[in-house]
Amino acid sequence: NDFASLGLAEPLLRAISEAGYTTPTPIQAQAIPQVLGGGDLLAAAQTGTGKTAGFTLPVLHRLAAEHVHPRTAGRPRCLILTPTRELAAQVEESVQTYGKHLPLTSMVMFGGVGINPQIAALKKRVDILVATPGRLLDHVGQKTLDLSGVDILVLDEADRMLDMGFIRDIRKILALLPKKRQNLLFSATFSDEIRELANGLLHNPGCVEV
Ligand code: AMP
Repeated sequence: NDFASLGLAEPLLRAISEAGYTTPTPIQAQAIPQVLGGGDLLAAAQTGTGKTAGFTLPVLHRLAAEHVHPRTAGRPRCLILTPTRELAAQVEESVQTYGKHLPLTSMVMFGGVGINPQIAALKKRVDILVATPGRLLDHVGQKTLDLSGVDILVLDEADRMLDMGFIRDIRKILALLPKKRQNLLFSATFSDEIRELANGLLHNPGCVEV
């Protein structure tokens, strides 16, 4: 019942221990092995359950383990969509914390701030992009962001994204991603609309509920 037995790589175990975590939370114990296995995941989880580490840790492991092809700038391998800028910033901070001993790069983008610093940041390699949907599409429109290399997609707090009216943006973004990829959907609640989104998005998903 520890992080090592879940199959995470040593640089991640070191970061976890430095964060002061000793035991995986229930959602982490369930989600981490499933995400490491490469399949899609449907997870019912509220904030405060440790869900962020539940997806960032195995995503970092997979990206680090995979042979890294030379990447052109502005072409992320993992896209994490969140409803708000606050959540996007928090998630990217978690990516930084847990990934600090791995040679992976991350970036956060959201609206309400100038776009030019984000355009400049996209000129470098970005493995993991954490973004809110509207600003992400602005970058796609300006051709400063290329989503054709996304191997892993995470929708965090998907119910809130739908509540905030992001469904059309999400559908536009999904259409820009490669067909073959891993999809993880996290939501606190399951309305018909969420189920419909999940049914269209996920293939034989593992299910996690806490
Ligand atoms: P989250 O539900 O992802 O927003 O995480 C809630 C809080 O729990 C965050 O402050 C994390 O730093 C913390 N946390 C996540 N996983 C663990 C763990 N295994 N042990 C102790 N704290 C944790």
